[in-house]
Formats: sequence, structure tokens, C-alpha cells
Amino acid sequence: MEAGSATFLRLLLSFLLICLASAYSQQPLDSAEIPPNFALDMQTAARLRPELLAQSVPATGRYAAGRLVFERLLAQLPNSPGPKFAWQLRIVEDGELNAYASPDGTVLVESGLAQLAGASTGLWAAILSHEITHVVRRDWARRYLYQRSLENSRATIVLGDPGLPSASWADSEKLSADMGRFCRQLEIEADRNGLVLMARAGYHPDFMPALHHLLHAQSSGTPAKSLYAMHPCWEERDRELGRAYVDASLEFERLWPAWYASPGGNPPIVVFAEQPTLKKVGSQWELQIPMRCQNLAGAVEVVVRSGSLQENSLPPDAADPPDPPSAKSRNRQLPNELRQLTGCTSPRTTVTFELADTHSRSKPGAEWTDIYVLDAWGAVLARADVPRRAR
Ligand SMILES: [Zn+2]
Repeated sequence: MEAGSATFLRLLLSFLLICLASAYSQQPLDSAEIPPNFALDMQTAARLRPELLAQSVPATGRYAAGRLVFERLLAQLPNSPGPKFAWQLRIVEDGELNAYASPDGTVLVESGLAQLAGASTGLWAAILSHEITHVVRRDWARRYLYQRSLENSRATIVLGDPGLPSASWADSEKLSADMGRFCRQLEIEADRNGLVLMARAGYHPDFMPALHHLLHAQSSGTPAKSLYAMHPCWEERDRELGRAYVDASLEFERLWPAWYASPGGNPPIVVFAEQPTLKKVGSQWELQIPMRCQNLAGAVEVVVRSGSLQENSLPPDAADPPDPPSAKSRNRQLPNELRQLTGCTSPRTTVTFELADTHSRSKPGAEWTDIYVLDAWGAVLARADVPRRAR
């Protein structure tokens, strides 16, 4: 995509439902009812639609799996009164890892994310069920109305305290905190309803955490390039979504007793590292990595590295080719990594690594930074940070 149109697309995105929410709260959502005559969301979407279509391509060819899943999910939606949506799945070919929805039912997936989902219908279901839910719940309208209500209440306060500049500053802080909380809650709700939607359509709810861990693994080291990376990871969502996840799993098992024959097939391997700990034992450091394992029949490989897989941190004179995040470097330990296989004998297994004080003479003092979990084919399932050493 040329630079000008990419900039234009960025501008358009501010109209779509994207919440860059960092605030976290367990408070219930302020109820923002949508008045029956409210149509600004649909009008805005109609105005933007030609531009969005011009900036994207239909989900055909290599993205056909996505379209198939999209149709299956839509078939599960009940007929309800309210606006009629013009459902369409589009791909934005910019290599990024986002997905978003326009209020009229245009769902856009950026090509980096589309390629990450690839042929996995279950991963597509995790992406699309969330976006479809945003549209059906009219979250764009809810966010708009909530923002307006905040601005109105702020105007009153500022008028009441004209002589206090700090009051209006503190107030705008609070406004964005409130907005962040509201957006955060919209995201949780979209996940919650999305889990049920995908389960009913025949995609195991485990594809949702699998997707979140894959995305988290992509965001290593670099500032969040993806909107998904701005979202909290599954470990944090877990607490909020625990009940919904169990309910969706039960619903899936009821409707699809033969998992392998469901549209999404067997549930994916969900293996990831929880908060690792590092402690000094003699002249060595001991890194303990508590693993959470679901649906694992074989083994996974845990890799501790200095530097992420994205940034190749091999010394320049290394004879080996750069190691890709794939099976090619399997069974071959590079100087900047340690590897260990685990079969996860229980859903919670701890893997321990002994780390020398400096890992490599060619890069003295370099730190072990990243933990990767690889499946049997060497594909990355999850990533975590090595805690920093106390000096
Ligand atoms: Zn969302």
C-alpha cells in the first residue's frame, strides 16, 4: 500500500471501533443504552464504506478459510430487530496484526493477522467472533454515547470551577481513565460473547487463548505494533473470562461431542509460560518456568534466548544461517539459546534452566531475555520475558 493511502486508512481507523484501553477495572460497565432513533453509527459507516472497500480486498484465495468461518459464525446469529448489517469480510494488505469492524458489519483483518491465522479455521473464528460481537452489540454507538456523556459532565464541572486550571487537568485525566475503563469493558464483553458464538459455530473456545498467545509472541521486544498487543494477555483476561470460558467449553462439548469432526477440528495446543522466576544458586542462575499446558499429546520445546526471534542476535561471523522462528533450527542449539523438551506431565509443569552468568564469550554481559514455547514442528506457540537479574 502506498504511503498516502496508508495514512488515509489510519485516519479512517479512528472512526472504527478501536479501543486503546490500558486501564483495568472490575467495575461494572455504566449502562449506555442506545436510543431507538440513534443512527449516527450507521450513517458514519455508510459514509466511510466506499473508502474502506477501496483500501481493502475481499477475503478470497489464500484467505478463503477466513470467509468460510465468517459465514459459519454469521449463520449462528439470531434474527433480531434493529439495524440490518451489510456483513463483509475484507483484508487490508499492510502486513499488520490488527482486526477491526465498522458499525455496518464490514470486518477488516490486516494481512499480518490473516496470515498468522492461515488455514486454521479455529484461529479465524477467534478473531472474527470478537469483531462480529462488537458489531452486533453496536459497541461503536455505545462508546460514542459514553464519550459524549463524559464530555457533558466535564463541561459542567469546569464551569463550576473556572479559577482552577488544575481541576480541568485532573478532570481530563479522569475522563481518559473512565474512557479506558469503558473500552476495556467493551473488549471483555466482546471476548465473552465471542467465545459463545465460536463454540456454537463449532470452534473450540481454546482457539481464543491460543490466538492471544500467538499474538503476544509476535510482539516481543518492540513497542506494541499491534492493537492486540495493547490488549492484556490471556493470563490477565483469564480472571475476567474464566466463567464465560467454562460455559463456552461446556456448550461446545454439548453441541460437538466428536471434537475432531467439528468445523474447527480438535482444540489447539495451548501451552504457555507463567511468570518465571530467577534465583542465584552458587555461581549460576536458576530460571524456573511454570508452564500451563492444555491439549498437549506430544511434547513442546522451551527455548531461552538472548534477543527475540524477530531480531537476529547471532554474532556476525557465525557460520550458521540466522535461525528462523520455525523448525529449521530444531535440534541445533545456537550460542544464544538453551533448549529443553517437555511433555507437560501435568497441566502445571515447571521447567528449570541453569544459566551461566554470561551466556556467550562473544557477547559478554548479554542478558537472557526471551522464553519461547515451540510446538513439535518448531512453530512458536507463546513467549514470555526472562526476569531481569538482580546485580
Ligand atoms: Zn475488540
